[in-house]
Amino acid sequence: MQKAFSTILCLCLCVTAAVFSGCGGASNQQSTVPAAAEPASADEIKSSEIDYTALVNKTHKLSDDWEKKLQTVHMTNSIGDDVEVEKKSYDAYLKLKADLEKDSVFVDLDSARRSVADQQRIMDEFTEQYGKEYALKTVATPGFSEHHTGLALDLYLIIDGKDVTENEDMVKYPGIWDKIHAKLADYGFILRYLDGREYITGYGYEPWHIRYIDDPKKAREITDKNITFEEYLGAYKGGKAVIDYGTSTLYSEEDLKAAAVQVACRFASFGGCELRSLKYAGDEAVSTEKLSQINRENPGRNYTKAAEFLMDFYTTENPGDTTLEAFRDYTDYPWWLARTDKDGWEIISFGN
Ligand SMILES: [Zn+2]
Repeated sequence: MQKAFSTILCLCLCVTAAVFSGCGGASNQQSTVPAAAEPASADEIKSSEIDYTALVNKTHKLSDDWEKKLQTVHMTNSIGDDVEVEKKSYDAYLKLKADLEKDSVFVDLDSARRSVADQQRIMDEFTEQYGKEYALKTVATPGFSEHHTGLALDLYLIIDGKDVTENEDMVKYPGIWDKIHAKLADYGFILRYLDGREYITGYGYEPWHIRYIDDPKKAREITDKNITFEEYLGAYKGGKAVIDYGTSTLYSEEDLKAAAVQVACRFASFGGCELRSLKYAGDEAVSTEKLSQINRENPGRNYTKAAEFLMDFYTTENPGDTTLEAFRDYTDYPWWLARTDKDGWEIISFGN
């Protein structure tokens, strides 16, 4: 399905503009790129199996032999789109769907697997069209999306017989999502991108993005502990960070939260660094001169608002950002964001 570029909340799928509270990744390229499913040969299927608890995120790459091992099925959703899903995940999804229908909750599959080759094609198209710098900034790196696994499923809702597919519409039904989320673990699924854990997962809250892990007991444990998959697997060792929006007469808390989510998502790509706190630096940090400076340094954007956040964090052995030193505490590490009147927050600079 097509999604309007300017109204995208999120972004687990791939191409991005820094808009709303998500962490980059419009999925509007999806229908323009044909799926390239390479079925494994019968011998390969017998001799190899995928690891259903594999971690793929912005810092953990899909293993090189994954796509060779992967067995998928294709289904057609209520809109008529072809969706490719890992086989066991699809069986489990059908059971979940049937169970939900008993409670008059109706869902369908928006999207699931996207191959690394498809993602690379999008990257190449964007590079050709807009240049390398823009492509790197806006397209998810091939190999680093959970959707490559075939185990990540994006749902949409069917309400009173109508397809509700746009992110900003789907979030209007928290009660329905609660009912869906309550049943996920029974079928071996977890909710992947939790609200307020963007600094760990690298993505804004996505009630529709579920992940199959092939083990209802583990799924129940993760759900009951209210932890991210990264924490469960020991890939994130820090504690729960303190996020402080302070008080502002310039911005609503919702607005500041959207900015903080952008920062948190980018922080997650630092690679294992542990966030301690993130706070709004206050209205007094924002001056007309600072906004002018940002506009001078980013010609053509015409930002009308700016905000600064300060972050305390600890780096681990190999911080993904090479400007950071290993095993060091950073305090009041600055982040600047800006936005125009019609677009969401964009990160302008960090660390200086
Ligand atoms: Zn997704």
